[in-house]
Amino acid sequence: MRSSGSLLVDNIGELVTNAPGEGEGGPLGVHRDAALLVEDGLVAWVGPARGAPAADRRVDAAGAAVLPGFVDSHAHLVFAGDRAAEFAARMAGEPYTGGGIRTTVGATRAAPDSELRGNVRRLRDEALRQGTTTIEIKSGYGLTVADEARSLRIAAEFSEDTTFLGAHVVPAEYADRPDDYVGMVCGPMLAAAAPYARWIDVFCERGAFDVDHARAILACGQAAGLGVRVHANQLGPGPGVQLGVELGAASVDHCTHLSDADIDALAATGTRDGATSTVATLLPGAEFSTRSPYPDARRLVDAGVTVALATDCNPGSSYTSSMPFCIALAVREMRMTPAEAVWAATAGGALALRRDDVGVLRPGARADLIVLDAPTHLHLAYRPGVPLIRQVLHNGVPQ
Ligand SMILES: [Zn+2]
Repeated sequence: MRSSGSLLVDNIGELVTNAPGEGEGGPLGVHRDAALLVEDGLVAWVGPARGAPAADRRVDAAGAAVLPGFVDSHAHLVFAGDRAAEFAARMAGEPYTGGGIRTTVGATRAAPDSELRGNVRRLRDEALRQGTTTIEIKSGYGLTVADEARSLRIAAEFSEDTTFLGAHVVPAEYADRPDDYVGMVCGPMLAAAAPYARWIDVFCERGAFDVDHARAILACGQAAGLGVRVHANQLGPGPGVQLGVELGAASVDHCTHLSDADIDALAATGTRDGATSTVATLLPGAEFSTRSPYPDARRLVDAGVTVALATDCNPGSSYTSSMPFCIALAVREMRMTPAEAVWAATAGGALALRRDDVGVLRPGARADLIVLDAPTHLHLAYRPGVPLIRQVLHNGVPQ
């Protein structure tokens, strides 16, 4: 739904636009004492509050900070059940192996559409209340032709960025014949999933899919018109990042265990604003929830790699929908500056989805924005765990 008429967000103490060269310069493009005009769901004007045009309605930011809505480029929202007991066992010392995915597959297959749809809506709404106005949604807990297709059909009711992850794990019934499963993913499953998907993804990891299987699946998806993303280098060093670069992936996600060659390969794909760069999407909620070492964001940023932050929201390894939490982790545990983390959670996420209409507040972009209960974006990391999202506008509509 889009708003009709015009709306002025006025009296903004600090406006983060992510428009380079704007305002005070630097990647956040900060304006002080600013206003922003919304028309037909889009940003129509940005400038000083004193020169603001008239509008039909007005939102008074009361001197607070305003940011683009968060872009969560990695989430697994279509599932049933939860795995709280597995989390408790892990916190008591059991290691994370990824094997618990099959528990969720069983619950998801058994659930009616209404239960899956209700879960996606609940989590999407939860994310929206925390400032997320764009969220990618993956399949990957069905792992049959029918269950992957229905997962994506439901996901597409809530997001334009839906991702076919039939290659999440090899399901139990194919455990001793993974080649047959890969053939099925590339054949009837892809054909059933592709009408509802924009992207294809593979969990390229020991215990999931090896590099040859991953390459075959991603190439089939590309041939069917889907863009490429990869779960790579989460649990240990591996070939996933380089495979993503080889295939021109929009994003390689996790990037917890990287070699110098991996970082060089990512850096060589382009600069921060290069539309064709392969983004390194870091998911610190997963390291938090599996008590694992965090990725070295500082090393990536310093090498010139484009970095995004996302939640990896899923019932096993990262059951958070909170981008502010991920920003706080990135600053405290991954040595990003607050400005870098906010950029990665907004503009970085947009680049990871190859979108130029979100993650930025400039004329023509979607009027997706957050009014903070704080004078500056710094508070997102400075005040962790505090609900700082005062108001969210999505397509120009106050939520
Ligand atoms: Zn994931």
